[in-house]
Amino acid sequence: MVRRPLIAGNWKMHKTAAEATDLVQALRAGLRTDAVDTLVAPPYTSLSTVVEAAKGSPIAVAAQNMHWENHGAFTGEISPVMLTNLGCSHVILGHSERRQLFGETDEGVARKAAAALNHGLVPIICVGETLDEREADRTMEVVDRQVERALRELSPDAVAGSVLAYEPVWAIGTGKAATPEQAQEVHAHIRNLVFRSHGDPVAAALRILYGGSVKPGNVAAIMAQVDIDGALVGGACLEADSFLKLVHFGDA
Ligand code: PEP
Repeated sequence: MVRRPLIAGNWKMHKTAAEATDLVQALRAGLRTDAVDTLVAPPYTSLSTVVEAAKGSPIAVAAQNMHWENHGAFTGEISPVMLTNLGCSHVILGHSERRQLFGETDEGVARKAAAALNHGLVPIICVGETLDEREADRTMEVVDRQVERALRELSPDAVAGSVLAYEPVWAIGTGKAATPEQAQEVHAHIRNLVFRSHGDPVAAALRILYGGSVKPGNVAAIMAQVDIDGALVGGACLEADSFLKLVHFGDA
């Protein structure tokens, strides 16, 4: 099974609308592969300008979070209907910053993933262990729980149409990426878990991204691993030059 690589940039709380437009224009100008799916996830305030700036290009646009309801009394929240209406195709769910800083739970992530799929949005579901959990040898247990709870209500087709992102918390924004072997070990474990829960074709089709200090200097080694299908990138996606180097990882 050949899975198309996906390189996704999570801009987090960076870029005004004008800066966002400039970055997308620079990405469009420099993008010279159609063998890799490319995605950007700006803050809510830049979604519509980024969708507009990316129109007619292969760059997909994701939100960084959403609520599971379509509308209602949820101050500060954004719904899947609003995202599809703007032209978003993907949504990042359960990022560790949301889990750690904003009380996101496994149950909430599961509800959001189901809602996203119901509205035709591809969820990029993030999982990963903290340093304490890795040092206590609990990585697989934590990742199993997060993956299992996110996917258990989803049909095989829904899982095959989703994206998982393995992001060890200790590697995010620290400059200390997992080694390609450490990442591959967890990715293979996740694929095996999905094989057991949703069957072989689903496990073979599911894209699993690695996230955590992916940079131009380590992307090729990470992407060379058989169960790593792309990257979810924070710091290195904020400048066109470095993000394009990641998208063009095959050149190295
Ligand atoms: C992230 O926030 O998902 C991430 C992987 O960040 P960084 O690339 O900066 O480690």
